Amino acid sequence: MLSLPEGMEKFGISEAVRTDLLIGGVWRGGSAGKRVEVFDPSTGKVLTSIADGTIEDGIAAVEAAAAAAKSWAATAPRQRGEILRKCWELMMSRAEMFAQLISLENGKALPDARGEVAYAAEFFRWFSEEAVRINGDFSIAPSGNNRIMVQYQPIGVSVLITPWNFPAAMATRKMAPALAAGCTVVLKPATETPLTAFAMAALMEEAGVPKGVVNVVTTSNSGPVVSAMLHHPEVRKLSFTGSTQVGRVLLREAADQVINCSMELGGNAPFVVFDDADLNKALDGAMIAKMRNGGEACTAANRFYVQSGIAERFASGLAQRMGAMKQGAGYGAGVAVGPLINQKAVDRIHGWVQDAVARGASVLTGGTAGGGDGYYYPPTVITKVPADSALVRDEIFGPVAPVTIFETLDEAVALANDSEYGLIAYVYTEDLRKGMQVADRFEAGMVGLNRGIVSDPAAPFGGVKQSGLGREGAHHGILEFCEAKYTAVSW
Ligand code: NAD
Repeated sequence: MLSLPEGMEKFGISEAVRTDLLIGGVWRGGSAGKRVEVFDPSTGKVLTSIADGTIEDGIAAVEAAAAAAKSWAATAPRQRGEILRKCWELMMSRAEMFAQLISLENGKALPDARGEVAYAAEFFRWFSEEAVRINGDFSIAPSGNNRIMVQYQPIGVSVLITPWNFPAAMATRKMAPALAAGCTVVLKPATETPLTAFAMAALMEEAGVPKGVVNVVTTSNSGPVVSAMLHHPEVRKLSFTGSTQVGRVLLREAADQVINCSMELGGNAPFVVFDDADLNKALDGAMIAKMRNGGEACTAANRFYVQSGIAERFASGLAQRMGAMKQGAGYGAGVAVGPLINQKAVDRIHGWVQDAVARGASVLTGGTAGGGDGYYYPPTVITKVPADSALVRDEIFGPVAPVTIFETLDEAVALANDSEYGLIAYVYTEDLRKGMQVADRFEAGMVGLNRGIVSDPAAPFGGVKQSGLGREGAHHGILEFCEAKYTAVSW
């Protein structure tokens, strides 16, 4: 039973949602018979409960994926592509239902949820096209004695772990390339937002994905359940999106069986604005980079570095725009920013803001934790934040924008690179040459040059330093689920 807010029945959410595990094509409860509650962050109310998977369920899911692996790998690439294409069609035909569902369990504002649905579905379409382009290499050995033939084969059973901030896109960004490559998977979505994952798995069944190719296990006991899966001899791949902290733990777990790992981890994106930037364009970009998903994005601008000549106008413009955003239930009419995922996130962020203020920072807008139901924190712009404060050093993951002034280009680059993270960096300048030079010097896997958003299924997404290993999307994304097999050939 799903308890929906008033007016939401009409979107068909109850019909689409499942609350049980999917193992080997069978929807069933967890082996211990336990359930976990799922909340609506906009109200704090319980939405429903889902099956709480055990270690035995995790192992059963791996074994179901292993049983389906051979025949899925042998399925013609064109056929795999057609099924993925069907997934895209079905998801787009139910785009509003998925957007409402994402907003319901994650809290993000509907415009963001709609954007996520289109982005998530596009991974199905993109990888339906890549499924038939897993090209190998062929060459004459330098010695001239033989030929070198390289083929890309499916890596094997893959464990996919996703966070709550993009419940649909983080799952399709992994499932679509895995299936396109010929791999079978076990998806473990975040316990906060499992309903979107279940609805997508049901959609994939409907599109023709065979039993056992996609399995979904939710659990309140992630550590032990995932550890058991990573110690099963059939598992060959771990693709994880989440915090750097958990990523480090999983890299250690995966080491025991030398499992291939793709890691999409945390970020701490700098957003650099030079004096010669177009102020309005920089503000437009800042609003997207900071406020998409209410700031709960790994790509979210975390630290604003603004050159002294434009700093005051930029900070007041940002405060004006952020302060004017309508906050409320994510699915509410006209809402631009929803709640955070839970009370813990509100308390953490408010604690960081209070700490900065106690040490001399000035709040231009926001800065007060909201009371009432739901997990709200207002869009906040804050200046004169000490360089060693958590707001600058750590991932905020919320609607707070610390603005710091710099004088020279070298200073801006040094500040931007002064982080253990390296996912993405943004720069605004009307001087393209300067912008390219700064982009080259950023220690980041991705750069937004006069752009507040970079995510694109056709582009390689990923970070350097402690933001991750490997890339998702583009052609790179499918290769993460392939092994290169080299054959030396003579005839
Ligand atoms: P998280 O690391 O707490 O959880 C991510 C997933 O790992 C969830 O499914 C969770 O249940 C699971 N998990 C938690 N502890 C585990 C353990 N010990 N063993 C196995 N699994 C475990 O992250 P989150 O709070 O869900 O998501 C926010 C984080 O994700 C942020 O740091 C954000 O930057 C990052 N993120 C990164 C990207 C990217 O592409 N680089 C994209 C989205 C989010």
